[in-house]
Formats: sequence, C-alpha cells, structure tokens
Amino acid sequence: MEKERLLEKLQREGYLRSERVIEAMRKIPREIFVPERERKYAYADMPLEIGHGQTISAPHMVALMLEELKLKEDSKILEIGTGTGYHAALAATIADKGMVYTMERVRELAEKAKENFKRLGIKNVEVIVGDGSEGLPEHAPYTHIYATCSAPSIPSPLIEQLDKGGRLLIPVGRIYGELWLVEKGDGIKKRKVVGCAFVPMVGRRGYDES
Ligand code: SAH
Repeated sequence: MEKERLLEKLQREGYLRSERVIEAMRKIPREIFVPERERKYAYADMPLEIGHGQTISAPHMVALMLEELKLKEDSKILEIGTGTGYHAALAATIADKGMVYTMERVRELAEKAKENFKRLGIKNVEVIVGDGSEGLPEHAPYTHIYATCSAPSIPSPLIEQLDKGGRLLIPVGRIYGELWLVEKGDGIKKRKVVGCAFVPMVGRRGYDES
C-alpha cells in the first residue's frame, strides 16, 4: 500500500518516531484533503496545492512538526493556517481527549476543512475564520500552538497565549525560512529546528497581502 510505504520511509528517515503520531497518519486519509487532480500524489512526500494559492505541507514536515510538538491525549492546541484541515485532523486524532482550535483566513478553505472533519467524524476541532497572527485570546492558554504559514518574526501574542510548560512551533521567514521552537518554562527558550518553506502568514503580525 502506498500509504504504508510512505510511513515506512518517514520512519526510516527519522521524521516519524512515536506510536501515536504513526497511528494518526495511518488513520487519516490525506487524499480527501486535496482536489481530485492531486489525489494520485496523496502519498508522495511533497506539498500539494489546495487552491487559493495555498498548499498542504509535505508529509515529512507534518510528521516532524507533530513529533516536535509532543502532543498529549488531552492537549489544548491552537493551529494558525487550517488549509483544508489535514494537519489539524492529525493533531485532533493524537489529542483525542483534548481540543484543537484552528484559524484560517480564507473562508472557502475553512468551509472545506469543516466538511472534511465532519466526514471523518472528528469532533474535537473548531475552525475559526480570521487572522490568526495574533492568536486566539478567548480560549488561551494553549498547551501547544503551531503555525503552518511563515511569519516575519515570532508574534509576541502567541508566546503570551502559551501555557507554562507549553510548546510553540512556527516558521519564520518570507517563504524560505526556519522553523522555530519556543518552550515556555520559568523563562522562554527559543531554538531553530530546521530550514523550511511555507506559504506566508498574512495579517497584522504577518506579511501584507500581495
Ligand atoms: N495546515 C495545512 C496547511 C495550510 S497552508 C496542512 O494541513 O498542511 C497555510 C494556510 O495558512 C493557508 O491556507 C493560508 O490561507 C493560511 N493563513 C495565512 N495567513 C494566515 C493568518 N494570518 N491567519 C490564519 N490563516 C492564515
């Protein structure tokens, strides 16, 4: 099976390590998150177009981020950049006793994501249409926050909305940049995890549209 081959490759390459992340990637079908014409590539390790100039990340990047976040079954998660919902569906499956709040600025993508969650029977996720560059204070604090779009710098409201002991993952840089991990303990620890390419975060703490 194509999916098993991809999962084996991601394990061999060291991206996939924990049983819960592997099981989630086994369970969630990536093909339903992409348009018809992209479906044949659903289990190739590459980003795929989802319309509106946006893409869903390559499986190795999704796996790396899920491993680096260290989600627990009861985590309370904020995602910035829902797209059609693939990454959020995985996070909600790993944190099946927790909750995922996910923000998307393109209404049509948010609607598509909601349909996908419904189809898969995923109930512990709420999609919010709007600019997520300043986070979502109403439900803060979060045990985990991650962005799937690349910001000019780490927005301070995201660090503020992180719970003590929490982890924040965010790509920084105009398209090509670096994925940063922020850990909130008694102080704030930041480190670069890996080089990466993501679509830009557009909004108040993001880039201007265009
Ligand atoms: N999570 C997706 C990736 C989607 S691509 C996956 O499963 O792979 C990143 C998304 O971020 C795009 O859909 C884009 O519209 C959205 N985005 C960009 N800036 C944003 C902002 N300020 N707030 C919310 N969403 C934003």
